[in-house]
Amino acid sequence: MTEALHQVTILGATGSIGQSTLDVLSRHPEKFALFAVSANTHVDKMLEICQQHTPRYAVMADIASAEILSEKLGAKSQTTVLGGAAALQQIASDDEVDSVMAAIVGAVGLMPTLAAVRAGKHVLLANKEALVMAGDLFMQEVRQHNALLLPIDSEHNAIFQCLPADYPQGLKSKGVTRILLTGSGGPFRQLPLDQFDAITPEQAIAHPNWSMGPKISVDSATMMNKGLELIEACFLFDVPQQDVEIVLHPQSIIHSMVAYNDGSVLAQMGQPDMRTPIANALGWPERIVSGVEPLNLIEVSQLNFAAADEKRFPCLRLARQAIQRGGSCMAILNAANEVAVQSFLAHKIAFTRIAEIIESTMNMVESHRADNLQIILQDDQAARACATALTEQ
Ligand code: NAD
Ligand code: MG
Repeated sequence: MTEALHQVTILGATGSIGQSTLDVLSRHPEKFALFAVSANTHVDKMLEICQQHTPRYAVMADIASAEILSEKLGAKSQTTVLGGAAALQQIASDDEVDSVMAAIVGAVGLMPTLAAVRAGKHVLLANKEALVMAGDLFMQEVRQHNALLLPIDSEHNAIFQCLPADYPQGLKSKGVTRILLTGSGGPFRQLPLDQFDAITPEQAIAHPNWSMGPKISVDSATMMNKGLELIEACFLFDVPQQDVEIVLHPQSIIHSMVAYNDGSVLAQMGQPDMRTPIANALGWPERIVSGVEPLNLIEVSQLNFAAADEKRFPCLRLARQAIQRGGSCMAILNAANEVAVQSFLAHKIAFTRIAEIIESTMNMVESHRADNLQIILQDDQAARACATALTEQ
């Protein structure tokens, strides 16, 4: 008897993570079937995906884009096209789906990702913003609905691989003393500070090691990405922020480490290619081929480490502050960052304004206990309004 194929939904299929996921899936047609894919407005890319991979459903969050896609695919297509936010939640929670790759960028990914969690799916989490803005609630829902949360962010996937399988029982009881979260430091690790004002979006999105979407590339350049990842690690692994150390590692070969009470430090290494964590999560608990080139350590030859400088990267300080303040402050930090990054990418504000706008927004918008989603979404909106006004000053 042949085993039933594992049905996969990809939220954010046209993006960088979405494309890497399709690449890994296409290497294992005997294991996986593509149930559904989603995108926002990128109709041409979606058309290509539908023609190449024939998913059962294709959802465009933007309804007008769904109509255009439907016309382009034609009546004979095997793919049903749907549009709008409710359809995103439907393909994330459908009874037939086994795994959901959550790879929408930003806070808009929260509701469809939560829908997958609430349906008890295997949730492959790339969309770190969802966890940053609603971490406590998100993790509660994971436990309540018995969802399996598999981290895709390379650092968190590395930590996951370096922890024992029963780590949710508590890291302390497993002998873990510290998590070492590595980051390359991005393109401006050594740029003289007096040149930061003149940084252009084109320079900021040119990451030295990773090829990623524009928002996370800017986050890597400000190191807000590491700040968001710090918050992500605290929620995913239930550790206090003092136990997470950020370590600069410019080669991006070690993807993070876990230190134990006997002095052991376990590291996960590999090429900087997201297909490794994606394959790890798709295949878990088995290992499957990802298409990533083997690592040649002789060629790499050096692994360097340094401390992260909060003066150069004020976003790191702001992320730690948001954790300390707690509640919806992390949603406020995230929302202000999304607004400021969009504005920088649109050439409206200088690079150094990003951190300033986040800090001012955190000081101006009151945060609350994040007991329910409504409060979080309200504070997210208030932070967006505040940050938008600041970008226009
Ligand atoms: P991307 O910009 O390349 O792709 C984003 C995807 O989200 C696209 O498919 C887009 O259509 C969709 N999307 C955007 N706005 C939307 C909206 N309003 N409604 C519905 N869908 C929308 O981004 P990416 O680099 O693939 O990153 C995706 C997520 O994964 C982010 O949260 C990022 O932080 C995280 N991540 C990415 C990488 C990476 O290497 N790219 C690594 C770690 C984590
Ligand atoms: Mg990462």
